[in-house]
Amino acid sequence: MKKYKRFLITAALPYANGPVHIGHLAGVYVPADIYVRYLRLRGEDVVFVCGSDEHGIPITLKARQEGVSPKDIVDRYHEINKKAFSDFGISFDIYSRTTSKIHAKTASEFFQTLNYKKIFIEKTSQQYFDTEANQFLADRYITGTCPHCNNEDAYGDQCEKCGTSLTPTDLINPKSMISGSQPILKETKHWYLPLDKYTGFLEEWILKGHKEWKVNVYGQCKSWIKDIGLEPRAVTRDLDWGVKVPVEEAEGKVLYVWFDAPIGYISNTIEWAEKEQKDWKKYWQDEETCMVHFIGKDNIVFHCIIFPVMLKTHGKYILPQNVPANEFLNLEGDKISTSRNWAVWLHEYLEDFPGKEDVLRYTLCANAPETKDNDFTWKDLQARNNNELVAILGNFVNRSVVLTQKFFQGKVPAKSKQTHVDTKTLAEIAVIKASVENSLENFRLRESLKNAMDLARLGNKYLADTEPWNLQKSDPEQVKTIMNISLQITANLSTLISPFLPNTAKKLCGFLNIDPIPWNKIGKTELLLPDHQLGKTGLLFEKIEDDVIEKQLEKLRKTKEQNTLKNDNVKPQKNEITYDDFSRMDIRIGTILEAEKVPKTQKLLKLKIDTGVDQRTVVSGIAEYFDPESIVGNQVCVLMNLEARTIKGIESKGMILMAEEEDGSLKFVAPSGKVSPGSEVS
Ligand SMILES: [Zn+2]
Repeated sequence: MKKYKRFLITAALPYANGPVHIGHLAGVYVPADIYVRYLRLRGEDVVFVCGSDEHGIPITLKARQEGVSPKDIVDRYHEINKKAFSDFGISFDIYSRTTSKIHAKTASEFFQTLNYKKIFIEKTSQQYFDTEANQFLADRYITGTCPHCNNEDAYGDQCEKCGTSLTPTDLINPKSMISGSQPILKETKHWYLPLDKYTGFLEEWILKGHKEWKVNVYGQCKSWIKDIGLEPRAVTRDLDWGVKVPVEEAEGKVLYVWFDAPIGYISNTIEWAEKEQKDWKKYWQDEETCMVHFIGKDNIVFHCIIFPVMLKTHGKYILPQNVPANEFLNLEGDKISTSRNWAVWLHEYLEDFPGKEDVLRYTLCANAPETKDNDFTWKDLQARNNNELVAILGNFVNRSVVLTQKFFQGKVPAKSKQTHVDTKTLAEIAVIKASVENSLENFRLRESLKNAMDLARLGNKYLADTEPWNLQKSDPEQVKTIMNISLQITANLSTLISPFLPNTAKKLCGFLNIDPIPWNKIGKTELLLPDHQLGKTGLLFEKIEDDVIEKQLEKLRKTKEQNTLKNDNVKPQKNEITYDDFSRMDIRIGTILEAEKVPKTQKLLKLKIDTGVDQRTVVSGIAEYFDPESIVGNQVCVLMNLEARTIKGIESKGMILMAEEEDGSLKFVAPSGKVSPGSEVS
């Protein structure tokens, strides 16, 4: 490993609109924590930075849905996630948030520096503006009819029915989700980071300079830089939730969440440094610092392209040495989904498996989605626990300490004459250490965990080969040597597994009655001195039985059933309206007097309706479901005061209310008994 004076390790800032689950742990936080714990054990100067990402549209949308403020949302999930990380031993030096004062100041200053250096392009464009709410509308705040599939509830950035990506001006009949009114196009100015100008820099820095990066990361960067091509990206938004754009003419604008979030790493470091009385600049602005970003694959472009361009153009900052992004973790063959509740939630895991944090850490690391998407299954967790943690690690440790208790009253016996097997076994410890280091430093954490477990395998093999339990009578001197060596292996294990299984390492130190051993002592064969008294021992791991796993599978089966029952096609409730909004609609009961097909159309019927108020013509798209003759005389609900429209040359006044089934078939909405035409519906 290249020598650095210090390390700055960041883990993706989780978005504070929901709780974290096993997918997050496996992809980002467990790997980052393992790496950091390793560095700390080596005595490196390291700071491990994370926090909640609390700005952006999804948070304001969720707040609207729940009828609370964005602050309520982020306060809730900041606390939940902070606790979940702490429960699983993710050892951040700081877990702060992007709504902090320090962050607003840091992000503003960063923007100002780039602005002062004339890095940004300023561009005006036409964007939708809600005149009633007096604000510009983010793409997600506009709905309208999709020009491709006629879905009436398409969003300004995408139609979720046909999947087409849209821009707000593509929508037919755009509507503001805030006031429900029709937005107007209005000029607005935004600041753009001209990524295209830095293509050469990125080619040089990543494509030529960092060929050692993980294949999935390097490949995605290459495709952005070479195939897709970089374009200027707006770093400001018209929104009232976020860091205000610190320029006079930017009233009502905030920094785009993807501009402010990575600066959160910097502001969180500053906050930490103030508390610890350290110099934060050494970690961010000194070439002798090694910065590594741990992220999921969906964040590669932001951490490898956009943020580095920001850092580079600012001029004072270092760039990351590596960005070991992972792929995604699935659950029992299906994509993890918050809305379908298809996830293992961390707090639920702890309720069902108290004290088994390390079992989950082990399983997630052993099965981490390092090179491709991977699957978490409960059977795999059971197998890894029973066949590896219990049968290999637990078994070896247990035999070492129990035999020492039995033969030597828990005191470490002295070594005497060593056999060839003894010497070879002891020499192997340093070899295993080197392989763990090599894998860890190249971000192959699954491999490094497997290598660490090899030390327990070595111990088991040693005991099986030497059989101390059969020698106690015939050769007690040799048994002393064997148990001494077994205990030295156990002591080495307590450090070697510590980055992966911190709770287990602590327990192991308790069994051996020792303080944690630094990493550089691994490989030494005199970690425990003769006559050292061991501590109180117990079991490191216990078997997980089939019925426990069956319970978890049953839980998932129930979720699946509920998801099937729940009609996925039911559209979510529309935004709240006032009573006034409702009472502006004039809905009456009418009777169909005449009905005929509109020539040269498939769907349209021309209806003559007695509304009590008048007899009027309504054109309705119901011809596929009704014969004209069969509906004459039917009572229907009519929206009376909808503005008149001319359809196929016929003036249509008002609209008939219909209930639409999932398959698109239609039924009239009608009173349950006969009422006079003109009766109001309210
Ligand atoms: Zn569509």
